[in-house]
Amino acid sequence: MPTEALRKKAQQLDSEDPLADFRNRFEWPQPKGVPSIYFTGNSLGLMPKAVRKAIQEELDLWASFGVEGHFEGPHPWYSYHQDLKPALAELCGAMEEEVTPMGSLTQNLHFLLANFYRPQGKRTKILCEGSSFPSDFYMLDSQVRWHNRKAEHEIVELHPRKGETFLRTQDILSQIEALGEELALVLMGGVNYLTGQRFQMQEITEAGHKVGAIVGFDLAHAMGNVPLMLHNWNVDFAAWCTYKYLNSGPGATAGLFVHKKHHGNTPYRLEGWWSNKANNRFKMERKIDPETSADGWQLSNAPVMNMAAQRVSLALFQEAGLDNLHKKREALNLFLFENLEALKALFPNEGLGSLTPDDLNHRGCQTSLVCGENGRALFEFLESNHVVADWRWPNVIRVAPVPLYNSFSDIWSFFDITRRFFVSS
Ligand SMILES: *Cc1c(COP(=O)(O)O)cnc(C)c1O
Repeated sequence: MPTEALRKKAQQLDSEDPLADFRNRFEWPQPKGVPSIYFTGNSLGLMPKAVRKAIQEELDLWASFGVEGHFEGPHPWYSYHQDLKPALAELCGAMEEEVTPMGSLTQNLHFLLANFYRPQGKRTKILCEGSSFPSDFYMLDSQVRWHNRKAEHEIVELHPRKGETFLRTQDILSQIEALGEELALVLMGGVNYLTGQRFQMQEITEAGHKVGAIVGFDLAHAMGNVPLMLHNWNVDFAAWCTYKYLNSGPGATAGLFVHKKHHGNTPYRLEGWWSNKANNRFKMERKIDPETSADGWQLSNAPVMNMAAQRVSLALFQEAGLDNLHKKREALNLFLFENLEALKALFPNEGLGSLTPDDLNHRGCQTSLVCGENGRALFEFLESNHVVADWRWPNVIRVAPVPLYNSFSDIWSFFDITRRFFVSS
């Protein structure tokens, strides 16, 4: 029986894990009085315990100082977003002046496309994943409509080959080349939300630029998950949300990246008073003095209460160290593969498999398990055994063991519960 050996291995790996204690810095949901096995950090990251105090401090400032809170305390509201930038820049491999926390993901994509999608002459088409997150499709469709064009003409979707579950890099690059001078924009996820496939962002960017297109990424499932080097990869722009792997709470302030090469050259950028240079902002002059860095994409004053959660969470990433997190992510992946293979060997007829590439450079934390006919019943059994995972019809269970707070034993428990389901069904 491999499962006892794997249980021991999980304990061993946990005891050697330098990040093991970080799980105690988070609140663990206990909807039924028992701590969950939480595998949905790809959907809503857990709450860092220190968030309560950080938000309370801002509330106290507001109570004690009113409007003067903008210039009081250790993190004055006036420049609050600045405190988040070093960590955000490190997470996406950017210069600090290339990133800013702001808005929501879908809003930010709209703002970015206002400047970076300018269909003209032959160059009108957008290339995206065929399994994009629906919001990204709606965003793209409405952008195209807004330019008085038709989505069915302008949007080209990438689909895996028949019988395959994820896209081949070569097929993406060929499609870019084939679209050539008709291609205005490539907009893809960094990591696909459904399959967990990590795209080869550098190669895609190079191929897009070669035909004269702009290349942007939706990093909803990539920020805080996989290594990113947006600046060196020469990516034009990117946006992300922070409630998934970045543990900043529901609807938390999102963020964006604009490559330095575009700073000062974004004529169609939509602006507000926070696009004005900070030192002149409160002069309230009729004519804008535009901030050319990524900060100039902000329109409005910063939502401080919810940035407080992000500040605390980003500090945890810095404390843990990105290299350590990536190492552990890969080790969690390998241990998951080992458990999955052991279970498939025990129950070869249950239709268990994965949509996600096995290559560690083509995936992040997430594995999208596919199940046989009993998939939904398995999912419900997992739920009743305190596993929090994510179900997608018709037969996908997404699990994302994240290195900041998941353990090797969490993975073992997940597969042991699955084993018990197969034994009893
Ligand atoms: C989670 C997610 C979104 C959600 O958009 P919001 O504007 O944050 O509500 C959009 N796109 C992708 C790819 C996502 O994974």
